[in-house]
Amino acid sequence: MSGPNLRRMLAGFEWEQVERLAYKPEGSAPFRDITRQTLFRREGLDCELRYFEIAPGGHSTLERHEHEHAVMILRGAGACLVGRAIHPIGAHDLVAIPALSWHQFRAAPEEPLGFLCMVNVVRDRPRLPDEDELAALRQDPEIAAFIRV
Ligand code: MN
Repeated sequence: MSGPNLRRMLAGFEWEQVERLAYKPEGSAPFRDITRQTLFRREGLDCELRYFEIAPGGHSTLERHEHEHAVMILRGAGACLVGRAIHPIGAHDLVAIPALSWHQFRAAPEEPLGFLCMVNVVRDRPRLPDEDELAALRQDPEIAAFIRV
């Protein structure tokens, strides 16, 4: 351990004194093959920094919420849906997720997708699309082919 103000990265995108956790409780929302590490959280700061890693071919939950995200891709490649747009993403791209935008991240089939995500400590719960919202999203064939629910 390098001290309370320095957590060195160990092999494989894990950091000293940081636990690699399940992304969300199993069964609470549709997702596949993700881990979560809370890298930074301090009293007095309203944001926290997490590192997520999606295994090859896996995906995050298709969701939206009032709080925003700033996402910095650290490793790998994949694609993301933000609002109505699908973007290929790779290392060091920065993705902003505005309030109430549908979003989902997918890792490429051959490599994991790892990213930092900054988020409010106090935040509303993510909401999943209902059937009407899903139907509206699926009116765009590109989105229909991309999303996993
Ligand atoms: Mn989210």
